[in-house]
Amino acid sequence: MRILVTGGAGYIGSHTCVALIDAGHSVIVADNLCNSRVEVLDRMKEITGKDIPFYHIDVTDYVAVERVFVEHEMDGVIHFAGLKAVGESVEKPLFYYYNNLVSTMILAKACLHYGVNRFVFSSSATVYGDNEVPFVETMKLKPRMNPYGESKAMSEQILSDIARANPSFSVSLLRYFNPVGAHESGLIGEAPNGIPNNLMPYVTQVAAGKREKLRIFGDDYPTIDGTGVRDYIHVMDLAEGHVAALENLLEGVHIYNLGTGRGTSVLELVKAFEEANGVEIPFEVVERRAGDIAEFYADASKAEQELGWKAKRDLVAMCRDAWRFESSAGTLALSGTLGTVNVSHS
Ligand code: NAD
Ligand code: UDP
Repeated sequence: MRILVTGGAGYIGSHTCVALIDAGHSVIVADNLCNSRVEVLDRMKEITGKDIPFYHIDVTDYVAVERVFVEHEMDGVIHFAGLKAVGESVEKPLFYYYNNLVSTMILAKACLHYGVNRFVFSSSATVYGDNEVPFVETMKLKPRMNPYGESKAMSEQILSDIARANPSFSVSLLRYFNPVGAHESGLIGEAPNGIPNNLMPYVTQVAAGKREKLRIFGDDYPTIDGTGVRDYIHVMDLAEGHVAALENLLEGVHIYNLGTGRGTSVLELVKAFEEANGVEIPFEVVERRAGDIAEFYADASKAEQELGWKAKRDLVAMCRDAWRFESSAGTLALSGTLGTVNVSHS
């Protein structure tokens, strides 16, 4: 298949391009580079040996998007392009709603117009809100409390309605849990500039001596050791989940959790990182972070049953690959040649 990957220069998009090419598909990337660097395209070429057509466009611009559809025959779209910083979304709701919703509508419009019938959307476990664990696709969603999460829930709704009204248009809504790690080459990965908001990039920067110590946000949650529990998933497993979703996409709307089904606490992750990489991560426990949920992880059984996909890389691989990127190519990223800039994800 030939797939348009919006946000393909970003963290998850770049790994997914590599996984698609590995699986024999071809990709076209559209990205405005608002949170990524063009050098990522060179790194993807280095890994795959393939030239990747790149459109430096904003996918909220219909005219620019239409040009891609006119110039390439495509079998599907994976829509990663979006803004993802929860805190920033509270400060700039219009910016977030506009970017995340308009891009989704414009791509859907172009797909319908040009007869592109497969659409895979980057959603998030954040749509579940503070629900019972494990999160199951059939759950009633709870309010998200921030425009970022709402924009994902609304995009899901918009795409579902469009698919219901257009039976040949198939949509896969992928709810990601916590992607971490990097491609095993160490050439692409998550490279925040500035102070990382998320746990794994913070840990790798402490390991590299760029930050003095990790601040653990609370150790009095009702969890195994009092620290927050998340379902960390290796970004290459997540990327391969997209390939499976595309290859097995049936007509209609299909929702899949992409997680491992296992919860890991902050302290467990820190210990795993220390053991995997032979480094020490000094930490202190501080106040809880506002808005944090104590614990969530996926029920990942639906994706396994229907897509034949399940995450296969363990926490050791996640920690090892995250550290390899940070300690090799990741260093380049911080000197400004590669990588995504700092935003928190959810
Ligand atoms: P990222 O910021 O690394 O990648 C997003 C890419 O989209 C960037 O390269 C950015 O430049 C591009 N982009 C943003 N708005 C654009 C626009 N209007 N036009 C063209 N390009 C645009 O983020 P990521 O972590 O790779 O996330 C990819 C998607 O997955 C996002 O939609 C995000 O909300 C979603 N998601 C991410 C996580 C996570 O933890 N990283 C979790 C759940 C969902
Ligand atoms: N966390 C932490 N210190 C940090 C960053 C995160 O203790 O510097 C904790 C956070 O409270 C949560 C877990 O690590 O329990 C994962 O946080 P992250 O921001 O990576 O993911 P999210 O909370 O968005 O799922």
